[in-house]
Amino acid sequence: MGPAGTADKRGRVAGGFLRLVWTALLLTVLSCFAAAHADTLLDATGYKMAGDATKMRIVVNFDREPDVKWFLLRGPNRLVIDLPRTRFALDAKDVKPRGLVRAVRYGDQGHGSRLILTGKGPFAVDELDVLKDDDGSGYRIAVDMSAASEREFDAALANQSLTTGSTVSTEKGERVGTGPISAPGHRFTVVIDPGHGGVDGGAESSAGTVEKDVTLAFAKELRDKLAAVGKYDVYMTRDNDLYLALDERVRIARQHEADLLISIHADTIAVKGLRGATVYTLSDKASDPEAQALADRENLSDQFAGMKIEDDNKEVTDILIDLIRRETHNFSMSFAHTLVGQLSTSVGLINNPQRSAGFRVLKAPDVPSVLVELGYLSNVKDEAQLLNADWRGKAAQSITNAVALFAAAKAGTATGG
Ligand SMILES: [Zn+2]
Repeated sequence: MGPAGTADKRGRVAGGFLRLVWTALLLTVLSCFAAAHADTLLDATGYKMAGDATKMRIVVNFDREPDVKWFLLRGPNRLVIDLPRTRFALDAKDVKPRGLVRAVRYGDQGHGSRLILTGKGPFAVDELDVLKDDDGSGYRIAVDMSAASEREFDAALANQSLTTGSTVSTEKGERVGTGPISAPGHRFTVVIDPGHGGVDGGAESSAGTVEKDVTLAFAKELRDKLAAVGKYDVYMTRDNDLYLALDERVRIARQHEADLLISIHADTIAVKGLRGATVYTLSDKASDPEAQALADRENLSDQFAGMKIEDDNKEVTDILIDLIRRETHNFSMSFAHTLVGQLSTSVGLINNPQRSAGFRVLKAPDVPSVLVELGYLSNVKDEAQLLNADWRGKAAQSITNAVALFAAAKAGTATGG
């Protein structure tokens, strides 16, 4: 090794030392930056979601006021909430999808963070607010969303611009104005709901006839009769042996902007001699103890999905919703009356055939809804009729006639004032 080699070695040592200093400096700067940066991260400390397939409230807690922007995306229907960079410390069981929400996702987007709620179908964001906690411990985002149609979702999508949560939030009044009745090109729409299905068989006759099969066979007959008129859009909540929770049936009716929901059932009763059809509408107070008992039995359907049955009377406090509910109730009563009149010409009815009780499947605030008990599976004559194609055809024709009268009356109301 010559001097050049020594010089070279000394140079390398000096260079190594410099690199070490630089690295140390860089690390110090970086760690300071990281520490400062960590402090600016928003903390999402909690997440709660309550409601069902027709209505949900979502609350996300933060350690301080979040700067929020939100917007809608379709294919699938999503609500996107943009946040500053956020550290999510959320419980996996709290973000487990349920009700109207099919998926909850969140994460880092580089310059910010994002929370994405995917709907089970189209929905409306009724309200999205950033609120200060009463105890001063932090802030929360509260989102109210409800099941809607594709058309309503698209209208909201067209109106949206990327602004803050409070200004994007749609006024309830506007939602009322764009309701099903005023939709352009909307044909009178009937949603037929065959009761029960899948693990929920419903009532059963002593001979083994199961309600879910009777209701599906009848619903198909009614669908074909209504479709043959050529003036209505007709949908079914299920057209095979599928379990559906009651709120899911209501959500489907809202998705199609139904003008009418007809839920089909065939019950059993201890009094074997009792027979005939009954038409039920929704009421907080049952018309009679039998109607109450029937509503209790039908509402048990949700237990197959392990759902907790809660009273949702808080919805009624909203005056606009209450007005719509009252109008819907009048339409339901009017259709039930027409339906009883038509059915009486072709099938046997029980005494006082128009009754009411608190059926969960009739609870859409803006869809006139009736529940038809076609007859009693506990009565051998009724059972024989329910299994007879001719009888089903006659009964389905009577319901179709009632729908025609109701649709014509409603069209008259809409154009004639
Ligand atoms: Zn039933």
